[in-house]
Amino acid sequence: MIASAISSLHAQVDTRWPQHSMDRPRPPVVTPAPFVNEAHPSDAIVLFDGKSLANWESADSAGHPARWKLAGGSMEVVPGTGSIQTKQAFGDVQLHVEWSPPTPVKGEGQERGNSGVFLMGRYELQVLDSYHNDTYPDGQAGAIFGQFPPLANASRPPGEWQTYDVIFHRPRWDAGGKLLSPARFTVFQNGVLVQDNVALSGPTAYQHRPPYAKHADALPLMLQNHGDAVRFRNIWVRKIEP
Ligand code: MG
Repeated sequence: MIASAISSLHAQVDTRWPQHSMDRPRPPVVTPAPFVNEAHPSDAIVLFDGKSLANWESADSAGHPARWKLAGGSMEVVPGTGSIQTKQAFGDVQLHVEWSPPTPVKGEGQERGNSGVFLMGRYELQVLDSYHNDTYPDGQAGAIFGQFPPLANASRPPGEWQTYDVIFHRPRWDAGGKLLSPARFTVFQNGVLVQDNVALSGPTAYQHRPPYAKHADALPLMLQNHGDAVRFRNIWVRKIEP
């Protein structure tokens, strides 16, 4: 059983509600402090500095250029061009990402400013405009999609920049493919703790929770193209495994 491999310190998926339940209580709304522009630490690997997509490629056809557009020091999702991923692969990381949903506001629920930060291309930290926009709690901003609602709705209004600061540990398997430890996320959105060392049930997905399948120790970081013109900037990682 996966459960036996999970320390009691790690929150597990709460099965009292069906996945994507609209009956689930909404996380409390917390107004974050104003955005503060912070430079990256000295040992960070800068994945996007606002000037170039050189560290990125198409996620659908690796080796082909990322086709999102550069716009005023940020990169912007171009609908129809697919998701993008880093050329470099990562395992355990500290990650910083800034993102901003499109204005004027368009659509509702999952159709408003939807994107996602996929660690190892499999484990989605949801990006969504969740400012005065109701949806199922395990799919709002700061959620580990379909598994963990955020502890708080710390969203800023659209048009403002938002930050994710993430600590991610990759899953580990023994040589025979038995899961030794699950993927884990700790996440701050705009300086507010929204995920506290949660242990994933497997890769994130819509309307199901697939089991783990053994994969490489390092894989690209992916940004989702969900058809909404979400912008990203100031993306950096620090590797936190030897
Ligand atoms: Mg998404």
